[in-house]
Amino acid sequence: MSMQTSSDICIIGGGITGLYLALQLKRRQPELRIELFEALEAVGGRVQTEPMLDGEFRAEFGAVRIEPDLQPLMDDFVRQLGLAVTPITSHEACSAIRPDNARLTPAERAVVQQAAGGDVAWALLWHGIAQVLGDQWPLAADRLDRPGRAADKARLRRLAQFGGCPLYRQGMWNVLAEVLSHEAVEFTREKGAFYNFKNQNPNAADWICQLLDMRLMQRPSYIPHGGMQALIDVAEQAVRAAGVGIHVGHQLLAFGERADGELDLQLRHAGAPVALRTRRLILALPRSPLESLAPSLPAPVQACLDAVLCFPIVWASCVMADPWWAPGAAPGSGEGATTRAAHFESHPDKPEAYGLAMFYNDDPWCHYWANLSDAPGARFPHKDRPVRSGDPRLRQALVRTLQQTFGRDDEPHLLEWGLCDWSAAPFGAGVHFWKPGRDSEQVMQTLAAFAIGQDGRAPQVHICGEAYSDFQGFFEGALRSAQRVLQALPAAATSSHQGSDHERH
Ligand SMILES: Cc1cc2nc3c(=O)[nH]c(=O)nc-3n(C[C@H](O)[C@H](O)[C@H](O)COP(=O)(O)OP(=O)(O)OC[C@H]3O[C@@H](n4cnc5c(N)ncnc54)[C@H](O)[C@@H]3O)c2cc1C
Repeated sequence: MSMQTSSDICIIGGGITGLYLALQLKRRQPELRIELFEALEAVGGRVQTEPMLDGEFRAEFGAVRIEPDLQPLMDDFVRQLGLAVTPITSHEACSAIRPDNARLTPAERAVVQQAAGGDVAWALLWHGIAQVLGDQWPLAADRLDRPGRAADKARLRRLAQFGGCPLYRQGMWNVLAEVLSHEAVEFTREKGAFYNFKNQNPNAADWICQLLDMRLMQRPSYIPHGGMQALIDVAEQAVRAAGVGIHVGHQLLAFGERADGELDLQLRHAGAPVALRTRRLILALPRSPLESLAPSLPAPVQACLDAVLCFPIVWASCVMADPWWAPGAAPGSGEGATTRAAHFESHPDKPEAYGLAMFYNDDPWCHYWANLSDAPGARFPHKDRPVRSGDPRLRQALVRTLQQTFGRDDEPHLLEWGLCDWSAAPFGAGVHFWKPGRDSEQVMQTLAAFAIGQDGRAPQVHICGEAYSDFQGFFEGALRSAQRVLQALPAAATSSHQGSDHERH
């Protein structure tokens, strides 16, 4: 077993959370000795830009865009890193299918009529949310820059009521089913854009709080030049330049407290054990890898881990010669095809010659696509390439999906294809949502700073990341949770393990 020198802070997980936190900590306190450990062979986590057709296309298999209106912290981080960005002009696909008017209420029929030609699922969803919230939120006058809005939203999350019961104790479907017809609930769930996060039954309070922001989004989304991978590459360079050691291929297996209050970490690197000492430990990890570490966590923290739902996502993409779409083709909403949403790109110089089709799949279609991966659980062979041509059924599924999407029965000319299932280890989910009945604020507070071992110790372990945040499913949530940890780590506390009242929470 090799023994490495001790550090002030160890960050586990090289996703956007770990990278961002490392940089912010170094900026605040350059003298800190910070080491970052990542289980895979590269940092980036749920960002994966895959060059296809010898780099002529960059297919995103993880995060695809940044919405500056929804993601102010992330937008600021992109600026700090000096990244050039490309706006994304295409809108989210909305279904052309309409609900059965005869099964809607008169008020819902009016909503559908008003939304004619637009996103009916979204309009019905808001018709429901408006009734659930009543006068608890000024929907008509709401603006993202309204002074005090963030604090109001935090209060709403905890205190909103519906039917005499705290909203956070209820599932989104449960409350919608109280105010909408069955047809409207089912239609919203089945036909809404992926933003609606509808195919599980998330905590109504948390979900509505996020939708409140999405409803007001105006500025276009963007992607860094060079794809999302450019964000990770530049962030990694900045973190290294700030003096943080980044160690890939290092998986944390367990940790425990030493008699002196410092922490012993056990990692695995290239099949061999590695031992490490640190004063503070930051776990920038989602639910599934945290569960693997549960034996090292104190009971109240373990009890928090199942507060979130693991939401599966599978992207499947293919490069096609003689594409069936024209440049600027609108995204498809998966109508008549085995997918949630379809996005199309054309080659910038040879749009008639080559195109990239990307099929986004959450519940339930993700399960169809996950079955087409020929090596379940090993979908990231070297951080890793999505499965390419291993399973001939994957190619066949892409052919069929293109035929269904374009209503054709001739054979598309596929050149290259791939698939990425984020439910595979070490991620365990595409994104996460709060479960009904769980108090997200209380869980986030518990995870932000806690002690292991003896009672009365100062907190020396911190959990953050998208999974347990108040903007799940987005980079913004990851960064917001990192901010919580920064607040829980007083500057003076990091250079000593001797806790003080100052740093207790
Ligand atoms: C398909 C998809 C599309 C998305 N689209 C968008 C989008 O368009 N815009 C947006 O803002 N967000 C999007 N998201 C969400 C965004 O990708 C995530 O919120 C963000 O990347 C999460 O970062 P994280 O650091 O919290 O977690 P991760 O990125 O999951 O990072 C955790 C890291 O920890 C590592 N790890 C796990 N276990 C261990 C261990 N024991 N030891 C060491 N390391 C370990 C993992 O390998 C991983 O690198 C999308 C996500 C998916 C899956």
